[in-house]
Amino acid sequence: MTKRDLPLVETGNNSMKLSPDDLAIFGGAPAFHEALHVGRPNVGDRERLLERINELLDRKWLTNQGPFVQELEQRIAQMIGVKHCIAMCNGTVALEIAIRAAGLAGEVIVPSMTFIATAHALQWQRITPVFCDCDPTSHNIDPSCVETVITPRTSGIIGVHLWGRPCDVQALAEIARRRNLKLLYDAAHAFGCSCQGRMIGNFGDAEVFSFHATKFFNTFEGGAVVTNSDDLAAKIRLMKNFGFAGYDNVTYIGTNGKMSEVSAAMGLTGLESMADVVAENYRNYQQYKRQLAGVPGVRLTTYDETARSNYQYIILEVDETAAQISRDQLVEILHAENILARRYFYPGCHQMEPYRSLFPHAGLLLPVTESLVKRVLALPTGTAVGPNEITKICQIIRLAVEHGDDVRARLPPRVAI
Ligand SMILES: *Cc1c(COP(=O)(O)O)cnc(C)c1O
Repeated sequence: MTKRDLPLVETGNNSMKLSPDDLAIFGGAPAFHEALHVGRPNVGDRERLLERINELLDRKWLTNQGPFVQELEQRIAQMIGVKHCIAMCNGTVALEIAIRAAGLAGEVIVPSMTFIATAHALQWQRITPVFCDCDPTSHNIDPSCVETVITPRTSGIIGVHLWGRPCDVQALAEIARRRNLKLLYDAAHAFGCSCQGRMIGNFGDAEVFSFHATKFFNTFEGGAVVTNSDDLAAKIRLMKNFGFAGYDNVTYIGTNGKMSEVSAAMGLTGLESMADVVAENYRNYQQYKRQLAGVPGVRLTTYDETARSNYQYIILEVDETAAQISRDQLVEILHAENILARRYFYPGCHQMEPYRSLFPHAGLLLPVTESLVKRVLALPTGTAVGPNEITKICQIIRLAVEHGDDVRARLPPRVAI
């Protein structure tokens, strides 16, 4: 057993926290000595990974569409049932290239409730992201809002399958068809997920995955574009390799979006344990669901269990009126216990630069997003978190909420997180 595999060290005193005085924020011992993170990397079979790394070193083929990248692309395309998979150095560059290859220009409609890279991938190419509100239940882009922000400059829509839960793909496809817009998906959260019997990766003109270390499936850094369009795939292949169509033959403007062999080695190894990671995430999700049931004002975001999911995100919504404490207060309480819950994606892309200065009034059209970013938090899960940790986390949340009035009165008025 390596150090990394050891169970997390807990405080010597293993007793339950019974009163607010036991909370670390009020001077109790923190529940965990070592921080529990959201998005701790899932690492597959180390021996198998090292074998592959030795193999690629022996081969001295380190990048440029090597055998591991080719194999990874084939395996992913096969798993998803999609015609083309083009592996890339990261999800952001994959998004930028997909956007360019699809010919997006002018304005593109995106949700503000997403990781900043969705918007930056557009703005980086001088395309204006037009922020669209999301649905309060699904947290995904609201198709009925999409229609209201279409202008003559609009060239496309980018939906984001937030938390791995699919967008309303039918409604978006219908709008895109009727208004003659391109439709892309940022599927950074949705690797291994399905929608209406088809794997995510088959919707819109193309979909983009991130294989960043914090994601469900990782290649250290990495990403991919998947598409059923031969034309788009050919363009993307050229673009991610400087536009080289052969030795000394550049036919296009391109950049360097290539995935390296060592990343592909990590990916191939990770694919072999994907089912185990899903099983652990699912077990964690079920436990959180059970142990948080009935906590007033705290709602766990649920997954459609008839579809395939990666269960990578444990997302809570805190209703301050019912819970008697705010999301931010709960996050402060958890951080003091060394439970590093995250406020994804606070404060919303439209409240970050350069968008905040460019579109100071964007929030007026985003009431659902503005309310959601104040209520949502992500809890630790994945292979680094086990049943004991989850029991403690849920117990602390329950304690804080059950003594909400008392806890709120004792908390300093504003603590920076
Ligand atoms: C992680 C993420 C990205 C960016 O992917 P990288 O591989 O980190 O560049 C884009 N969009 C969303 C929604 C993400 O969560």
